[in-house]
Amino acid sequence: MATNLVSPKKVASITERVWQSVYGNSSSSSSGSGSNHQRRCSYESDDDEYEEYDGVGTVQLMQMGSERTKNVLILMSDTGGGHRASAEAIRDAFSIEFGDEYRIIVKDVWKEYTGWPLNDMERSYKFMVKHVQLWKVAFHSTSPRWIHSCYLAAIAAYYTKEVEAGLMEYKPDIIISVHPLMQHIPLWVLKWQGLQKKVVFVTVITDLNSCHPKWFHPGVNRCYCPSNEVAKRALYDGLEESQVRVFGLPIWPSFAGAVLSKDDLRKELEMDTDLPAVLLMGGGEGVGPVKETAKALGESLYDKDQEKPIGQLIVICGRNKGLASTLESKEWKIPVKVRGFETQMEKWMGACDCIITKAGPGTIAEALITGLPIVLNDYIPGQEKGNVPYVVDNGAGVFTRSSSETARIVAEWFSTKTDELKRMSENALKLAQPKAVFDIVKDIHELALQRGPLANIPYVLTSSFTSLI
Ligand code: UDP
Repeated sequence: MATNLVSPKKVASITERVWQSVYGNSSSSSSGSGSNHQRRCSYESDDDEYEEYDGVGTVQLMQMGSERTKNVLILMSDTGGGHRASAEAIRDAFSIEFGDEYRIIVKDVWKEYTGWPLNDMERSYKFMVKHVQLWKVAFHSTSPRWIHSCYLAAIAAYYTKEVEAGLMEYKPDIIISVHPLMQHIPLWVLKWQGLQKKVVFVTVITDLNSCHPKWFHPGVNRCYCPSNEVAKRALYDGLEESQVRVFGLPIWPSFAGAVLSKDDLRKELEMDTDLPAVLLMGGGEGVGPVKETAKALGESLYDKDQEKPIGQLIVICGRNKGLASTLESKEWKIPVKVRGFETQMEKWMGACDCIITKAGPGTIAEALITGLPIVLNDYIPGQEKGNVPYVVDNGAGVFTRSSSETARIVAEWFSTKTDELKRMSENALKLAQPKAVFDIVKDIHELALQRGPLANIPYVLTSSFTSLI
């Protein structure tokens, strides 16, 4: 039987029908196009825009002040897996809460419209996190506001036209940034365009406890902080209390609404249904000491006296294909599943009894919602360092960089220290914030309502209305 941990919290108000309508169609989609609530928007493309004119007035003009589908542009980048995860969580929560009131577009506008260095962030990030000392220097040397403001202003000036084209193609009513490099430049473009009063701009911080000051821009309508620690930092960096809200980190609603039991999930995922399971991962890029830890677990979860395994191992390698092929080619004495980039993390987490991971905020928040005790085996300097005390001091897990120590801890949790595993699971659930993503989208909705009728002026007319808005 699967180890009996505490059941995760559920969001009671959401009906199964709504879950199906969202996840039946959009759970693995990478853009906003997957929702079946979505209806064709009145300004999807330039051609469409002209079609909508009827010679007397426009459909858009008729809609001024009345209900119409609003465009939400979520700015993200695949630097790691956490920004996309949060972006998709927000997209799904909008769809669940508001149906077709909003059309959500998840985009890396930098990658699609600009040039170096903005269009190369994924590759640079991968390189930097493999050479963490480089990352550490880059993180800390760009922390002072005058430094990052200067270089972002220079980039904004150089790429004004491209960023403007990228943003305006989607004619956003609301822009949500879930990336530290996506505040300054779009806010400048909105200012230059005279669109600050038309477009709601919010930041959703995806670092849990410590973060880079680039996240904080006084020009935002809201800054959603996942913890009080980050909120304090935001106030210290010049934001007003009225701009800051603390709801928690946005996590895919599928985590909070997970309905299958651990036994069912194990059957579905073709795992052993009797042995306790540990999930090993290293964020979206599969970084950290994953290979060494897997090998050590292969030994510690095998009872040599009884000649049988005491646990099973799931390794999710994310986008690290080299890691996956190395581990797949190894012979194991215990049941092991090696996977690449998975799109249904809630199922893998729900099927396991504990997790080993670097201190990535997304993975930690998901593990907390699932009630998984956590072994943190690494952290990226700067933004992830503060996540270690957050987990350890709250009794939801332990930190060690030693692979053999990690393997020993998990073997004990599965044999002599099951009480400790259960206690940590309870503590994890106490820290979980499954409703955070819904609180965030409801607050954004309120902000959009406060904009009033002028926000409904069609983009095609904004140049003539610039002085008004
Ligand atoms: N993730 C995923 N599939 C994978 C590996 C990771 O969807 O195969 C998700 C994971 O569930 C989490 C995010 O990627 O939401 C990783 O975010 P985190 O903040 O932990 O680390 P990052 O990759 O951003 O450094």
